[in-house]
Amino acid sequence: MPSGRSMQHIGLGRDLHRLVPGRRFLLAGVELPNEKGELGHSDADVLAHAVIDALLGAAGIGDIGELFPDTEPAFKDTASMPLLRKAFERVKSHGWRVVNLDCVVTCETPKLLPYRETIRAALADALETDAVMVKGKTNEGLDAIGKGDAVEALAICLLEKL
Ligand code: MG
Repeated sequence: MPSGRSMQHIGLGRDLHRLVPGRRFLLAGVELPNEKGELGHSDADVLAHAVIDALLGAAGIGDIGELFPDTEPAFKDTASMPLLRKAFERVKSHGWRVVNLDCVVTCETPKLLPYRETIRAALADALETDAVMVKGKTNEGLDAIGKGDAVEALAICLLEKL
């Protein structure tokens, strides 16, 4: 790599969680009111999980399942945003910084728009950049997501190393 040049790597993350009554609905640590919430071993924050995988993928240092196994009792009901910060610390320790992050969350309910800026700001704070975007979509009533039984998150992240 010629000196003074930067190297850029892109990473993709995807996650899905079932939605069930009696659980919290969290996106990047922000709780949205909804009849159902995400089921999982940790707090099941689908967006935080997708972003972790996008970061680790771009840096080429494994995935969320390797770093934070869901068989590990320590991660039972654990908050996912501290895990995202830990993953980002590891990414930074390899010399990377985030250029930008773009995310899509798909669910029938709740509507993301009123919470979108809070969610975006939470990710921007954790990743030390303001270049973060979050979009909400529905599945038009189709499949498990469309029936309100699941939520999916996609995240794509560009990293740069000087
Ligand atoms: Mg997950």
